[in-house]
Amino acid sequence: MISEKMKNLVKNNSVIREMFEEGKRLAKIYGKENVYDFSLGNPNVPAPKEVNEAIIKILETEDSCFVHGYMSNSGYEDVREKIAENINKKYLTNFSYKNLIMTVGAASGLNIVLKSILNPDDEVIVFAPYFSEYNNYIRNYDGIVVKIDSDKKSFMPNLKEFESKINDKTKAVIINTPNNPTGVIYKEEIIIELSKIMKQKELELNHPIYLISDEPYRELVYENIEVPYVTKYYNNSFVVYSYSKSLSLPGERIGYVVVPNELEDADEMIDAVTIANRIIGCVNAPSLIQRAIPYCLDVKTDIEAYRKNRNLLCQILMENKFEFVNPEGAFYLFVKTPNGDDREFCNIAKKYNLLFVPGSSFSCPGYVRIAYCVSYEIIERSKEAFKKLSKEMKLIDF
Ligand code: PLP
Repeated sequence: MISEKMKNLVKNNSVIREMFEEGKRLAKIYGKENVYDFSLGNPNVPAPKEVNEAIIKILETEDSCFVHGYMSNSGYEDVREKIAENINKKYLTNFSYKNLIMTVGAASGLNIVLKSILNPDDEVIVFAPYFSEYNNYIRNYDGIVVKIDSDKKSFMPNLKEFESKINDKTKAVIINTPNNPTGVIYKEEIIIELSKIMKQKELELNHPIYLISDEPYRELVYENIEVPYVTKYYNNSFVVYSYSKSLSLPGERIGYVVVPNELEDADEMIDAVTIANRIIGCVNAPSLIQRAIPYCLDVKTDIEAYRKNRNLLCQILMENKFEFVNPEGAFYLFVKTPNGDDREFCNIAKKYNLLFVPGSSFSCPGYVRIAYCVSYEIIERSKEAFKKLSKEMKLIDF
């Protein structure tokens, strides 16, 4: 019999996955090209050719027992050193290989950080809307999720509420920028303000409060906007990075965690995160793709494809009088549901073969997430469906 803890997790299984299954079901009935599945954040842009070239080169030139062998739990030193140098070049930081732990994507990066810092009943603050898996990751280590709403016009964190919710039990704060599901980016002034509050609270409460910056979308930015590198603003920061979206490699499971020297007891924390990597069962990040990363450090995904999708979708939504915040990054749009009920709205949209994820799945009811990492043609073909949906919601009458 499965455990009580698992029973709940199975019951609350991700709505996003359910939608994905629904998409497959509808595709069988109506044909794939007539189902507008905007439910999953799976990049539709292929991985850059440099990734495959690197893999082939590694397989042809490196020793097989080495390439496919066990390694240090934190990953290959030479790989970590090259990534550290690249981060230093881009963000004027000062990391070495010691500050980087290679991970099985951002999912395991978040898990090993939370495992390293949480005692039972420690609180972790998250800003709604947020990636729903944070709930599971925090509860994996018996932490408590403390949700704080964002401003509904800008989707920036409500810093007044944030300050008031920090207490003796607060151990960490997770931010995600560019954001899933809203696409907004926290600008420098927000990071400065957030850091100021956290520093003040650390002094008052006399214990570290960690800032965990979850950054799978760092490279997916459409405007000329800088995504601040949090370690430069706040000492007790972790950066959790992933190549899932920036190189379109979600199935390869590759990313890293940065633990800066400025973090309190950094050496001890680096050991803890490294051991956590092993004992949660990941052991180490996958070897072959890890060795390929240094060949792709300055390689970029085709951001123009996502930009084109974003622009077309924004145009369709505007023409049909839907309300949303202009996304500056990632590949999501967060749209206000005209009837206020996100689940019902998703069901109505389904009638027109439009698949969205309800905002409730991101702890923000009254909105839906549209993932536009789909083909441009699908968005073009979906125009009529959006029009019919808008008509049914009485937003337009033509
Ligand atoms: N964090 C956010 C905000 C995400 O959107 C995702 C995946 O969609 C993840 C973490 C997990 O990413 P990864 O595939 O690197 O585990």
